[in-house]
Amino acid sequence: MLPIDADNLKLVKYPDPLLHTPCAQVTEFGPELEALARSMIGMMYKSRGVGLAGPQIGLGQMIFVANPDGQPSECEKAYINPVILEQDGQEVIEEGCLSLPGINCRVKRATLVRIRAQDVQGNTFEETGAGLLARIFQHEIDHLHGILLSDKMSPVARLANRRTLRELEERHEQATGKPSDE
Ligand SMILES: [Zn+2]
Repeated sequence: MLPIDADNLKLVKYPDPLLHTPCAQVTEFGPELEALARSMIGMMYKSRGVGLAGPQIGLGQMIFVANPDGQPSECEKAYINPVILEQDGQEVIEEGCLSLPGINCRVKRATLVRIRAQDVQGNTFEETGAGLLARIFQHEIDHLHGILLSDKMSPVARLANRRTLRELEERHEQATGKPSDE
């Protein structure tokens, strides 16, 4: 049994500590995981994202979904227990995150990334992503290790985004009654 309701996903936002908690390996594959992946893909489109990772729906397990097209197409896919095998190249591009609404910052990432992952049935596969897909792989795998876009910000970017970060922190404090540790 998954610890969350796949039919009723909620987006977890900064500075919720769940986003900074490294995920555990997925060990159970099959129909339940497949249904979850389908819900995550639906939520990704609804939120106008190109990727969504487990911690962003409050699930501390190594799963992310992605589609660089940003709308239903044959490129939509779920990646379970992904690891980066190789990476190459480097570019700095502005990036956003569904868990950090209103924040954009430039992040240096590899331009070519080869990963190994499992599908929802547990079959292992390898895939090479270039350009945007390579960036999505790195961003989502960061999420699975508890690393956020805000952790990648330069001091200048942090300063430029400080008001939005502060607003998100205040909203979190109001919702939980807890001060954020960010
Ligand atoms: Zn993100």
